[in-house]
Amino acid sequence: MVVDQNDQIDQEVVDAITSLGNSQRLQILLALGEVEREHHERRHTKTFTELYDAVDIDSSSQFSYHLNQLVGQFVSETPNGYRLTYSGTKIVRVIRSGVYESTSAFDDREISGACLFCDETTLLATLDIDQFRIRCTSCDAILITDFCPQSQTRDRTTTEIIESYCYRIWSMYIQLRGGICPECFGPVDTVVDQYEHDESVQHIHNSSCRECQFLVSMPIEVPVAFHPAVLTLFWEHGISVLDVPLWELYEYITSDVIVMEIVSDEPFEARFTVTLNDESLALRMDDTVTVTLEP
Ligand SMILES: [Zn+2]
Ligand SMILES: [Zn+2]
Repeated sequence: MVVDQNDQIDQEVVDAITSLGNSQRLQILLALGEVEREHHERRHTKTFTELYDAVDIDSSSQFSYHLNQLVGQFVSETPNGYRLTYSGTKIVRVIRSGVYESTSAFDDREISGACLFCDETTLLATLDIDQFRIRCTSCDAILITDFCPQSQTRDRTTTEIIESYCYRIWSMYIQLRGGICPECFGPVDTVVDQYEHDESVQHIHNSSCRECQFLVSMPIEVPVAFHPAVLTLFWEHGISVLDVPLWELYEYITSDVIVMEIVSDEPFEARFTVTLNDESLALRMDDTVTVTLEP
């Protein structure tokens, strides 16, 4: 572990980050990233000479000095030449995707969905200083909040940016389903919790990463909607759950398509009924957020 419980950081980490503070070294990383793009394959290498020619540095001793500062953490030296490590690749993607450019924003946009706290169906999508939010226009509850990098907004209209959250949220959820952190792929711990707004309470499940402390909260109904039997029931009624954004899925919660009944608070156990037209499914959820179909 590079950061201990008192947030003391290893000197190795400080040195690695310090080694990036030089434009010629960043150029070397970008040049190695180009190899990947040119050949459409991972882990392709560049020889010392190829790399030297690709970078705008006059003396080979200076080039070699800068390259050596990167070898180990960001660049790997192999018998065939040099290639980016995982962290080197991450740095290149972060630079190329414009993470360090100015923050992203769009004009507030009304969208349809459902508020879990007051049944309002007009919601407001906002993007301000990289922070994407979906809030209720009546009770002001924040229903969804996440970061929005520049790369997500460039070449997309406001509608397309909002739509992209549909799939970002589900891809995040699919990883959490397997106990995987969407940010660093470390193991996550999931607990059932409650989110309060005004007088009403919504059950949520909180997943936190043991490695990077990434935290995601989702309504408790999401794992129910993603049970294969429920996905099938929706599909048979013409609804592809994966293409329904989370804030529209809320409509199925507020309109009692998905109904929860708490069986026990400690440990948490709930029973769910999913009804579409006259077809119904009964499911159970335990405190590990595992959903099973009732016979
Ligand atoms: Zn509301
Ligand atoms: Zn993580």
